[in-house]
Amino acid sequence: MSATLLWLRQDLRLADHPALQAAIARGAPVIPVFIWAPDEEAPWAPGAASRWWLHHSLTALQRDLEARGSRLVIRAVGAGGTAGAAGGGSTLEVLRALLRETGATAVHWSRRYEPAVVARDRIIKDTLRAEGIEARSFNAALLVEPWDVQNLSGKPFQVFTPYWRRVSADLDPGKPTPAPRSIAAPAKWPKTLALDALDLLPKIAWDGGFAEAWQPGEAGAAANLDSFLEGPVKGYGDRRNFPAERGTSRLSPHLHFGELSPRQVWHAAPEWRTSQFMAEIGWREFAHHLLWHFPQTTDAPLRSDFLRFPWRTDAAHLHAWQRGLTGVPMVDAGMRELWHTGWMHNRVRMVVGSFLVKNLRLHWLEGARWFWDTLVDADLASNTLGWQWCAGCGADAAPYFRVFNPESQAEKFDPEGGYRRRWVPEAMPPSTVGPATIAAPGGARDRYPAPIVDLKASRVAALEAFASLRK
Ligand SMILES: Cc1cc2nc3c(=O)[nH]c(=O)nc-3n(C[C@H](O)[C@H](O)[C@H](O)COP(=O)(O)OP(=O)(O)OC[C@H]3O[C@@H](n4cnc5c(N)ncnc54)[C@H](O)[C@@H]3O)c2cc1C
Repeated sequence: MSATLLWLRQDLRLADHPALQAAIARGAPVIPVFIWAPDEEAPWAPGAASRWWLHHSLTALQRDLEARGSRLVIRAVGAGGTAGAAGGGSTLEVLRALLRETGATAVHWSRRYEPAVVARDRIIKDTLRAEGIEARSFNAALLVEPWDVQNLSGKPFQVFTPYWRRVSADLDPGKPTPAPRSIAAPAKWPKTLALDALDLLPKIAWDGGFAEAWQPGEAGAAANLDSFLEGPVKGYGDRRNFPAERGTSRLSPHLHFGELSPRQVWHAAPEWRTSQFMAEIGWREFAHHLLWHFPQTTDAPLRSDFLRFPWRTDAAHLHAWQRGLTGVPMVDAGMRELWHTGWMHNRVRMVVGSFLVKNLRLHWLEGARWFWDTLVDADLASNTLGWQWCAGCGADAAPYFRVFNPESQAEKFDPEGGYRRRWVPEAMPPSTVGPATIAAPGGARDRYPAPIVDLKASRVAALEAFASLRK
């Protein structure tokens, strides 16, 4: 039997990997391949923080493959001097070249759900099949495929609670499989690029805080899940809204890159299957359900009346928001946590999102794009859902008239000020307790700005703008 190409994308693990299992079951050598083709994902090609994660996750995967007698073959599409033997004009061409070079007769991969990727993958599958190749895709990222769930009228769900009630009622995702002990190698490996040739790491070293906060890769994901299940999960229902604590799992980047499957989470924590924590995993499923059924929402509001919304443009305000210099400590703390670690607590994502789209009245896509570039867990399904939720223009969204007040949110969810003190020390009275603080951007420690907008007046202006949609 001739070899199988295992085309790896956002499934960077070896356990619970149906495409890998099926490749092994063919009884032939398996050739794991990663193809870097960011242009094919435009306009949502991986941002800077995602590229950082990807580099380290691929490094870990290479190690894990080598420990099993295998390797990772790396190729790149198009520019950057990577063409020739290790490149090609498109992912399809790269796959065809690899099939020719290796004599493989099958390509296996795990499905993705982003509109540009879905369109590309469909062409690849149809073309390869027409050429006699066994092209097969598998579900490795979701508990349930988006097309397998519908409401009583046979339509996609647009409200989370009935969606999750339906999905979780008879969910039986099957047991995850362990990582194989060994993976059969081909007699001769095809050429590969060095990982560094993909240039995924930043040229200017802004990633020190990332390395402190994260361990990308399958082992890091498992360690994170274990430490969450050993402690924080027990208090999740009460503590998940307090950003100064480790009240949540921090599994989002691991899930996004497929270093861990939701099925593994489901089986690792049977006693939490009906918990609020698993419902959050359900939100991730719901986000993919919406992305699949409403692919236009990555760039357009689901509620089309919002196309008429009078958004403002204001480069100075946008810049102040991005840099954590709005003069509103809870907002600035979130934006600095994001910049420093590539992640932000969910409660604070809602606060900074509401501030951007309501108090500043800047377009939700400005926020979505900034998050896209700076989050290590940037995920088109969840990011689109999150931003349309904040703007009030998506499925099951926060009503537009619900404007978060960042000051009362801070009083409620950061009552001791530990979160704001850590990230915006210059705005907070000093404390002798709590973690070390982080210096303000640009050395602005003693010059914390006054708020760039009046919270009350901007709230009223936002409500008037919203009312104008009804006219
Ligand atoms: C404006 C905005 C943008 C967001 N962008 C993203 C994004 O790009 N990528 C991303 O993974 N999440 C995004 N979220 C959702 C959420 O903030 C993160 O998933 C969560 O903060 C990750 O932290 P955690 O792993 O500790 O979550 P936990 O509370 O431990 O939840 C467990 C898992 O459930 C999933 N989850 C939790 N909340 C949500 C949610 N509201 N929507 C979808 N999935 C959820 C995540 O996969 C998460 O890892 C966004 C939310 C908002 C408000």
